[in-house]
Amino acid sequence: MRILIISDIHANLTALEAVIADAGEVDAAWCLGDLVGYGPDPNECIQRVRQLPNLLCLIGNHDAAVLGQIEIDSFNPEARQAVVWTQQNLASANADYLRNLPERALLNSVTLVHGSPRQPVWEYLLDTRTATQNFAHFETPFCFVGHSHLPVIYQLNAGRRSADLIIPETGHQITMAPRAIFNPGSVGQPRDRDPRASYAIFEPEEHIWDYRRVPYDVTSVQDRMQAHDLPARHIHRLSGGW
Ligand code: ZN
Repeated sequence: MRILIISDIHANLTALEAVIADAGEVDAAWCLGDLVGYGPDPNECIQRVRQLPNLLCLIGNHDAAVLGQIEIDSFNPEARQAVVWTQQNLASANADYLRNLPERALLNSVTLVHGSPRQPVWEYLLDTRTATQNFAHFETPFCFVGHSHLPVIYQLNAGRRSADLIIPETGHQITMAPRAIFNPGSVGQPRDRDPRASYAIFEPEEHIWDYRRVPYDVTSVQDRMQAHDLPARHIHRLSGGW
């Protein structure tokens, strides 16, 4: 069984299509939130994700912001501008879809959240200290998160009772050992200085995490963002992957 693990698509249809093509046939797809925000294709991305087989999709903080469920005062001005643009351009049926997404799910011995098991929508797992604390907030052998846009693995070291940070190598199939938190990176806005779309294939029976990167036509996305007057900083960052 092959399960497509995607997160932080951020309304980037070109990156999403590249990932789907590169992944090949999958039995299911788990999407860890932030379908919209930043990019020019919010409706198209929601519709495309919904076509994936046996889809499980979670809500992310940008999805919640677009729905008006959270204050966007803490967002920087450009992020706020992108939220407002998305609110103005999102079809009501697609807003309804986002509104019904869960914050947390449990499937095949995996806990799924956007941010962290402790605060599913909001908390960032950016360091081993925060990651270590979060192991107390889920019971399954594995947890999959997105949100930081950084492909990483936090592996709990039972002896030391703390987590080690592992940065996986592209194209490397990792044999998963409990307990661990996996982040597939971001499809539509990678932030590890590698502009290629980031995702993973999870094989539950074999306990394999196949972490992958795929190039896509960044310029075409930037052209659409320009045409919609989306913030220049968001347009530029796609080229450098930050
Ligand atoms: Zn995000």
